[in-house]
Amino acid sequence: MLSMLRPTPIVPTVDFDRDGAQHGFLRLPYSRDDSAWGSVMIPICVIRNGTGPTALLTGGNHGDEYEGPLALFELARTLDPKDVSGTVIIVPAMNYPAFQAGTRTSPIDRGNMNRAFPGRPDGTVTEKIADYFQRELLPRANIVLDFHSGGRTLDFLPFCAAHILPDKTQEEKAFAAVEAFSAPYSMKMLEIDAVGMYDTAAEDLGKVFVTTELGGGGTSRAHTVRVARRGVMNVLRHAGIVAGEVETTPTQWLDMPSGDCFSFAEEGGMVETLVDLGDPVKEGDVVACIHATSRTGQAPQEIRAKMTGILTARHFPGLIKAGDCAAVIAVEV
Ligand code: ZN
Repeated sequence: MLSMLRPTPIVPTVDFDRDGAQHGFLRLPYSRDDSAWGSVMIPICVIRNGTGPTALLTGGNHGDEYEGPLALFELARTLDPKDVSGTVIIVPAMNYPAFQAGTRTSPIDRGNMNRAFPGRPDGTVTEKIADYFQRELLPRANIVLDFHSGGRTLDFLPFCAAHILPDKTQEEKAFAAVEAFSAPYSMKMLEIDAVGMYDTAAEDLGKVFVTTELGGGGTSRAHTVRVARRGVMNVLRHAGIVAGEVETTPTQWLDMPSGDCFSFAEEGGMVETLVDLGDPVKEGDVVACIHATSRTGQAPQEIRAKMTGILTARHFPGLIKAGDCAAVIAVEV
């Protein structure tokens, strides 16, 4: 079936089978007004030392999330091949055009990398990147860590996460890697819509896949960057790629038992948060109010918790639109 697809147009400037540390690019041809034979140059680092497992580490799947890129650009600079058994492939900013623009989606094609899988070799720039990961990088990996944060519009408690999977052996390995990451919170994650996600692509290939949500608001914090840096080293130790013990710290496991975790705004307006991230809430509690801004004298719209748990994510900007995710509640396990 794969033979029916044309080859990728992306040319790597690194050799995935060569020992040592290589800093190069995935060069994606992109012809445009300001560069007729131009390219998108996506930074990639390969650190290899002999045979052994391969970890594929990514950030910037969404371009406005910074803990992953900060941890991974640093890891690429500092990880010594001598300390590696196997291969570490690092792509700190997967949707590089989006990362350069500081936006969630690509300014070239509006492509959302995490809705573009399996991608297309003859598609948009975003689809071509997805196709390269689908057919060239994911098959090389034993373990995949993809960093996310909330971006400009959401803010999260810092957690590492994996999904409930039909293959319980694969699921158990993923949750063991989440535990090793040692974020303050660890999540059994439910997706609103898993179609087209990198997560799903990796899991369908049988890979051990872990992800994170480590804050948000279109910036990073000292604490969440420390969590990201420690977490990625812990995952490499857990995978046997870097020697040494996992630096465990206590983690609180959370579960998202159903779609009732999510609350969406039904009208736009100005948000007033009534509980902060990590605060306990009971089913029926008002967690946020949305105040009308078009005139005075309007009663606010109340956003109520549909289950008892803790506030795990919230809309970040002060203004909200109808349909925006206003709050996410998760249950402490
Ligand atoms: Zn994201």
